[in-house]
Amino acid sequence: MSEWIDGQGRKIDYLRLSVTDRCDFRCVYCMSENMRFLPRQQVLTLEEIERVARLFVERGVKKLRLTGGEPLVRPGIVHLCERLATLPGLRELCMTSNGSQLFRLAGDLKAAGLSRLNISLDTLDAQRFAAITRTGRLEQVLRGIDAAQQAGFEHIKLNCVVMKGRNADEVPALVDYAIAHGLDISFIEEMPLGQVGREREESFCSSDEVRALIAERHELLDSAEHSGGPARYVRLAQHPGTRIGFISPHSHNFCSTCNRLRLTAEGRLLLCLGHENSLDLRGLLRRHPLHDEPILEALRGALQRKPARHEFTVGDVQVLRFMNLSGG
Ligand code: SAM
Ligand code: SF4
Repeated sequence: MSEWIDGQGRKIDYLRLSVTDRCDFRCVYCMSENMRFLPRQQVLTLEEIERVARLFVERGVKKLRLTGGEPLVRPGIVHLCERLATLPGLRELCMTSNGSQLFRLAGDLKAAGLSRLNISLDTLDAQRFAAITRTGRLEQVLRGIDAAQQAGFEHIKLNCVVMKGRNADEVPALVDYAIAHGLDISFIEEMPLGQVGREREESFCSSDEVRALIAERHELLDSAEHSGGPARYVRLAQHPGTRIGFISPHSHNFCSTCNRLRLTAEGRLLLCLGHENSLDLRGLLRRHPLHDEPILEALRGALQRKPARHEFTVGDVQVLRFMNLSGG
């Protein structure tokens, strides 16, 4: 079986698939208040998503992550999980979700073969939660986290985008919540994707600042662990069951070990989150419904063009795409 190796010699074994650009939340760092979503025919069908996943898994991709938008608002998502989970050679089928629908879907997702869940949680305060997500209800997400644990998901990881003036003061409380529930948690630096109608420099909080906040209360042990992604991890000396991750696109560049590609909801294969460099897979899939070879050839060519690194700077909107299109 051949493998996917990019032009910089990096082995690509991780594909993130955005299954929809739609979402039931409008998080302030991700979307604007009034979003216009893609017309249905521009979004990949579930069959097209499965076909792309198969082409990658057949050639060495070991990990798939379903994301969005909110993957759980896409009709047929449980069935898609069932299909993807059986792809020979796949090691992990993961999902990143805002958690709002887990209270009703967690059991079905587990039964369908989903192996891991990341759940976004930026605050434990109901009013702040409503302000950050604009439409979300904290209580529903906390119920979803409980449902996922009851369904048997292990190593659930919380994702928290840290913003000064909004939730940075809650870092210790979020760590306590993770410890109490036996969860991992990653703190994410806000990335400048899309014009979201506010200045990001004012609220930017670096991973070093977050780490210092946690270190005031806990002894941190550096850890060489990684989960196939860009996070750096520490463990807490007194609570070894909880892993804390830092995802720092600004302060700690992680491009040299980038092993991933992203497929947008409309079928563009993004070679790097920080570049517009992409391949229109939807056009290829629809022009060649029966023959994979032209698609494989285009993929091989595109991989040679995967950029060496991104060039984000705080506050600059270099990439006009919103995060919900590419799935983070
Ligand atoms: N809706 C799902 C969710 O919120 O988990 C999946 C899609 S969301 C785009 C994936 C992740 O990206 C979430 O953890 C979210 O917090 C994060 N995210 C969104 N916009 C971001 C930004 N501008 N900078 C950093 N992280 C961002
Ligand atoms: Fe929706 Fe996730 Fe974006 Fe929030 S971060 S608006 S939940 S896609």
